[in-house]
Amino acid sequence: MNSIKNCHNCGSNNVKKESNSIIYGREYGNGKCYYCHDCKANVGTHDSGKPLGTLTTKDVQILRKACHDIFDRLWKYEKVKSRGNLYKLLAQKMTIPQNECHFGMFQRERCLQALETITQEKWWT
Ligand SMILES: [Zn+2]
Repeated sequence: MNSIKNCHNCGSNNVKKESNSIIYGREYGNGKCYYCHDCKANVGTHDSGKPLGTLTTKDVQILRKACHDIFDRLWKYEKVKSRGNLYKLLAQKMTIPQNECHFGMFQRERCLQALETITQEKWWT
């Protein structure tokens, strides 16, 4: 993905590359982001200017972070299974292809679906 023409959240073509001060009030990192002027979905950029991922609204960013917080501690600290195995299992439970099973790629619906799974007790067993 070299640039973004249509918003992944609302479909608008009113997406522009902007200073990320538009989101944070001042510039962070390389200072750039893609920004949807209709729904305010946004995503940061690599230093090359390429987008880091898909445009997301604040609520989806929060959902993704919640997924990560819950999921990552399972392989990082509790070590219930390896990271790879956990992602594989999650993909199976969500019945989605494994190569799409990354929280950074999830929009609202899949985040909620993932949370429903990973908040169940010992879902990996
Ligand atoms: Zn939008």
